[in-house]
Amino acid sequence: MNFVFRGDELLVRQDAAELPAAFEPVPDAFLPVGVLEGRYARATWLAREAVAPEGFEFRKLRSLFGVMDEGLVAVAGRAYQIAEWARTHRFCGACATPTERVAGERCARCPACGMVAYPRISPAMMVLIKKGEAVLLARHLHHPAQFFTALAGFVEAGESIEETVHREVYEEVGLRVRDVAYFGSQPWPFPHSLMLAFTAEYESGEIRVDENEIAEAGWFGPGDVMPKYPPRGFSIAGELIHAHLPRG
Ligand SMILES: [Zn+2]
Repeated sequence: MNFVFRGDELLVRQDAAELPAAFEPVPDAFLPVGVLEGRYARATWLAREAVAPEGFEFRKLRSLFGVMDEGLVAVAGRAYQIAEWARTHRFCGACATPTERVAGERCARCPACGMVAYPRISPAMMVLIKKGEAVLLARHLHHPAQFFTALAGFVEAGESIEETVHREVYEEVGLRVRDVAYFGSQPWPFPHSLMLAFTAEYESGEIRVDENEIAEAGWFGPGDVMPKYPPRGFSIAGELIHAHLPRG
């Protein structure tokens, strides 16, 4: 399987979201990705100005979520992160010497100064706050889809994931929460996040939104009309909300 990227776009057939069986001319920078159901997967990237071969097109990886086979799209996400890591670590970040690949490891090493670089993974958290049977959903200002969803934010340097939950909740909606509980996680390759999802119980405070990040936020409980929220089977946000829909 050949995962050929141009930026955050994947090369697929025009008539069906399928990968090219062969890719000519073969770039010299194919990277091993793994094996899916007995098929060997490898990844590479092309320059921004690359043109898709006859019968193929470049499609945004994000747009293939929910379209491509679930197992295949998961490997595509992995392939993208590996290709992006390789593309952005061709030179040492400390002394600009071309890096070398370390055999047997997913590692780029500088032969001059010894700097090593592994694929970057940026943890982020998502939290659904519960208050009795109600849940807090918010519409984010900078979110491309106008869904109401759980609160989310990136872990900052030096922070535990629990501290991120409490900080982001307070920053985004001005509330205090307790009983933070793990729900699940999902790799999110845009470009290299790992989303860790939680629930938490409301403890105190009145909703006061951060107007730089949140358009609106509110409690949705039994009898309320639920706003449009992310679909299941695409992101963990949809699963998290679906699992805690107000009953009654
Ligand atoms: Zn170096």
